[in-house]
Amino acid sequence: MDDAKEWLIEANDLVRVYGDGEEIRALDGVDLRVKHGELLAIMGPSGSGKSTLLNVLGALDKPTRGSVFINGQDMAKIENKAAFRANTVGFIFQLHNLLPTLTALENLEVPMAGRLSARESRARAEELLGLVGLADRRDHLPNQLSGGQRQRVAVARALANNPPLILADEPTGNLDSAAGHDLMQLIRELNLSQGVTFVIVTHDLAVARETSRILVMEDGKMVREDVVGSPLEEDLKVWAHTELGRQIVSGAEGKIEGFDVSDEQLEEIRSLLLQTGESS
Ligand code: ADP
Ligand code: MG
Repeated sequence: MDDAKEWLIEANDLVRVYGDGEEIRALDGVDLRVKHGELLAIMGPSGSGKSTLLNVLGALDKPTRGSVFINGQDMAKIENKAAFRANTVGFIFQLHNLLPTLTALENLEVPMAGRLSARESRARAEELLGLVGLADRRDHLPNQLSGGQRQRVAVARALANNPPLILADEPTGNLDSAAGHDLMQLIRELNLSQGVTFVIVTHDLAVARETSRILVMEDGKMVREDVVGSPLEEDLKVWAHTELGRQIVSGAEGKIEGFDVSDEQLEEIRSLLLQTGESS
């Protein structure tokens, strides 16, 4: 039962060949299934085909062979690619690509131009700035924002038309690790609160570990897949090694000092900590 709607992205045997004569197989038989609401990372060495894959998924490039279905739609049959991209896919790039002479707010209005009235797009742009925590930077130009803030605007811009899918190519590539971490926290929040699916290409394992699944590419092929623990599991793993965690796991009877929960809750936490301990 391979109902295409079950998957937000379903790509089959994608091949993308560049050049003639000495040809480069940037994609060499990639299959990919992504569920609605996933937060996914794609890693792999430079030149392994990550950007090519994102471009094909986002209809910026056409595969030489193979098929891509987004939300059940066969991309080969979509006539108006620009409209498809505007409605269905948001992009975030390593360089924010904000227009330098427009304010943060105005940059957000650009993708909505012609789709919403001026007043509606202003309201939506303000809502989006709030969503990415930049309400107080609305009138700043890109060069008056930090690198992390610029990428937040780029994230908000990608969300402008409420697409179900956002493709991000090295979104933290130009940020220091603290700003990169903050950006990933924002992306995680938006993934949960807005239900947006994110596919994030990254070199940075710390970034990839903020997602729930990591795919690894090499020479145009998917070579490995890792499932990352949920954020809750990660927190529990840390907690299991604290004094309190140890007391709970060791099955201390009755009340634990300074930890005021019911016996029932305590039992539930204990079983979570034990499960987490087994899986790590
Ligand atoms: P990654 O994003 O993983 O670094 P890319 O998808 O950019 O890799 O590139 C995969 C391969 O395809 C590389 O060998 C690259 O040189 C080649 N390639 C990418 N874009 C083009 C292009 N427009 N023309 C020719 N070769 C290209
Ligand atoms: Mg690339």
